[in-house]
Amino acid sequence: MLIVQKFGGSSVADTAKLRRVAGIIADAKNAGNDVIVVLSAQGDTTDDLIAKAHEISPEPTRRDLDMLMVTGEQISISLCAMALQEMGVPAISLLGWQVRLRTSSDYGSARIRSLDTERIRQELDQGKVVLVAGFQGVNRRGDMTTLGRGGSDTTAVAIAAKMHADLCQIYTDVEGVYTADPRLVPTAKKLKEITYDEMLELASMGAQVLHNRSVELAKRYGVPMEVLSSYVRKPGTIVKEVTKGMEETKISGIARDDKIARIALVGLKDEPGIAYKVFRVLAREKINVDLILQSIGRGNTKDISFTIPKSELEHAGKALSAEQDAIGFEHINVTDKICKLSVVGAGMINRPGVASLMFEALAAAQVNIHMISTSEIKISVLIDQEAADVAMRAVHKKFFEE
Ligand code: ASP
Ligand code: MG
Repeated sequence: MLIVQKFGGSSVADTAKLRRVAGIIADAKNAGNDVIVVLSAQGDTTDDLIAKAHEISPEPTRRDLDMLMVTGEQISISLCAMALQEMGVPAISLLGWQVRLRTSSDYGSARIRSLDTERIRQELDQGKVVLVAGFQGVNRRGDMTTLGRGGSDTTAVAIAAKMHADLCQIYTDVEGVYTADPRLVPTAKKLKEITYDEMLELASMGAQVLHNRSVELAKRYGVPMEVLSSYVRKPGTIVKEVTKGMEETKISGIARDDKIARIALVGLKDEPGIAYKVFRVLAREKINVDLILQSIGRGNTKDISFTIPKSELEHAGKALSAEQDAIGFEHINVTDKICKLSVVGAGMINRPGVASLMFEALAAAQVNIHMISTSEIKISVLIDQEAADVAMRAVHKKFFEE
């Protein structure tokens, strides 16, 4: 098999951890596989480098910031190559430019354009483990770029796609993807498999195990991924297009997002064009709107409420208040003491009853629902933040423990 293994920063944080990682790589190699390894920078290296840059300049040029940040991954791949060689495993470390990993020019958020697999292929054919620096590439001018924080996952999947790898393993400090965050729901179970779409939904709601772009890329090229722990040697969670349990298990996971806020505009005129007036302001300010609820008119007025990222609350409140007369509302009501709870599952397509089960669990737990939204594979409710822990456990129990 051809396997791409990616290890995150915490997995390679110090010498002892690097040796452990080298042991995992050596085992895969000695089992007869071709192995390509992508590493992140050790521990907090990237943060430390950024902090250093800011000691010198409040606003370093993005080009030089990338030039600095790429050094972190260079340290981990060279050290790991040495650790493997010490174990008698031939290994070679390569930077982004050495595998011609070409990107767009946007420093700090570059997109991968192409990759030349020839060098990697040559080294593999000579029996070596090939270690590639994550998170980096070169742009058209030959300058170093980075892919955005957490970008090494994306490097790994891009290489796996281009090399037609059989599996792209993402080693991290959790054992896989769970039915809910185990810190919040102690009874959460590790999933054997999950679909790309489910993973994308869960990731966008705070279950941040994988870089979203890496999952999108894996889906596009059909690269099977596995999320697993660098500390316990157990199978993790496979991420792929279609999962076996899809027909039986209606849902795969429960996620919660606390980083949202709700704005309600009360006493709007009940006439055409009002929603446009409201959301035009938010669009102009580039504020992302998620859930939207409009009440039915009573007399001549109606209300519209919606959620936005918590970090945009002040900005949005000011922008809307400044347009109060133009839009025409009586008052604005804001809160960030709310939370979005979602159940995600590819198996809920064409299967009625999932929403009802979720609402049943919330009713029994005395949790009030403010808004509801659904998509093909997700049902989300907006609830008070103080009820979120109880709600999450109640919903988890309903779907996974009964
Ligand atoms: N070292 C980079 C970061 O900390 C890339 C990565 O970890 O994937 O963002
Ligand atoms: Mg990192």
